[in-house]
Amino acid sequence: MINLRPAAISLLMAFSFSSCAVNSATGERQLILISESREIEMGREADVSITSQMGLYDDADLAAYVEEIGFRLQGVAERPNLPWTFRLIDDPIINAFALPGGFIYITRGIMAHLNNEAQLAAVVGHEIGHVTGRHGAEQMSRAQFAQVGLGLGSLISPTAAQISGVAGAGLGLLFLRYGRDDERQADALGFRYMDNASYDAREMPDVFTLLGRVTAVAGGSGTPSWLSTHPEPADRYERIAQAIAASGSNFDGRDVGRESYLDRITGMVFGPNPRHGFFEDNLFMHPDMEFQITMPPDWASQNLPQAVVSVNADENTVLQLTISQATASRATVMEFLAGNGLTGRPEETTINGLSAVQADFAASAQDGSTIAGRIVVVQYGSNTFQLLGYGTGVGWAANGSLVVTAQQSFGRLTDAEALAIEPLRLTTALTRRTGTLGDFYDANPAEVPVETIALINQMDVGTVLRSRTRIKTVVRGTP
Ligand SMILES: [Zn+2]
Repeated sequence: MINLRPAAISLLMAFSFSSCAVNSATGERQLILISESREIEMGREADVSITSQMGLYDDADLAAYVEEIGFRLQGVAERPNLPWTFRLIDDPIINAFALPGGFIYITRGIMAHLNNEAQLAAVVGHEIGHVTGRHGAEQMSRAQFAQVGLGLGSLISPTAAQISGVAGAGLGLLFLRYGRDDERQADALGFRYMDNASYDAREMPDVFTLLGRVTAVAGGSGTPSWLSTHPEPADRYERIAQAIAASGSNFDGRDVGRESYLDRITGMVFGPNPRHGFFEDNLFMHPDMEFQITMPPDWASQNLPQAVVSVNADENTVLQLTISQATASRATVMEFLAGNGLTGRPEETTINGLSAVQADFAASAQDGSTIAGRIVVVQYGSNTFQLLGYGTGVGWAANGSLVVTAQQSFGRLTDAEALAIEPLRLTTALTRRTGTLGDFYDANPAEVPVETIALINQMDVGTVLRSRTRIKTVVRGTP
């Protein structure tokens, strides 16, 4: 976990490491407040948090493919001595981001929306550009990035303000926000890397068109942070279109890699993966781990890779489920209480036939506010589940019984349909005759609306397709 004291660190850096050097990627003089070794160290630490909090997509071949493209671009980029790392994140959200030190992340969500390898290279190249341009090295020490250190296991915080922050502690906070100039520079560098790595750089503007459409569909709400922090896609499209014209290059014969890309992503999970847990109203079911729990009704819930978190509307009470490494014993509960400066008396109990240990606790913070709650650890199969409920004094008085009822509902998942549920997956099909994408959809019904099929193919429902055009579609189960 990173434990940055941002102001102090950047001040320290200013005195000890500041240097003004010409950036090898951009040719610009740049004031660097942080040494390269410190940049790598920070990237490595954050990488551990991001990898465990977001989760890697479990497909070694596809991960190797993303790496292969990453190294092809990195091979024509600057800063060869960084520990370049390219990771495929198991997240349906359309996103890509980079950490200082050369750590690049691509979600399976953005993979699903790209049409060929050159488009993936455009996204990866842009992110490499943020690293070679050293755009993140400075932001790394700013306050927002300290959020990386927000471990879900250490959410116990004695003030109401911090409790309510839990609800908003989405991973959006993790992403560096670059200035508009940095984004344009990353686009320009990405374009150059694509060009030098023999990709057809004419695919790059189409990625911006896609991002513009995704933003429009999202309607401002739920727009991935990657999109909301970047300049207008139309502006980026225009700049790269101009760069293509100005380059005078003939890109014919350069790699687009449509067929191979579609082959690679066939079978990739699309949308949220229900095997990693899903809600039916307030009932949370986890088919892979075969457990269920009924969260308090009408609370806002989130299924994160490391935790399931529910928060009430007033944001003063939280119930959080995590997997613990320790056994469900009195010692484990004592350790939790002591580690968080709480007192309580653990007692052994059973929950739906499973052995458990629980303890009620209360504490006062320095500012006079109080916190109260109950921790329950349950042994189930080879795992120990920690069900941590807590709130402000007022919150717990009003909602404590709801939390306890939810904790008592933890048990084995037996619903056969839920246990057998399969995620949606991408596949492709050929059009049989000339017609619109809508016609294709009628002949090949998918598990998602036709508008989604249009979006992932970067087309409109009315786009006319020739016979035997390969189109992405979405099926349930293995295609
Ligand atoms: Zn960017």
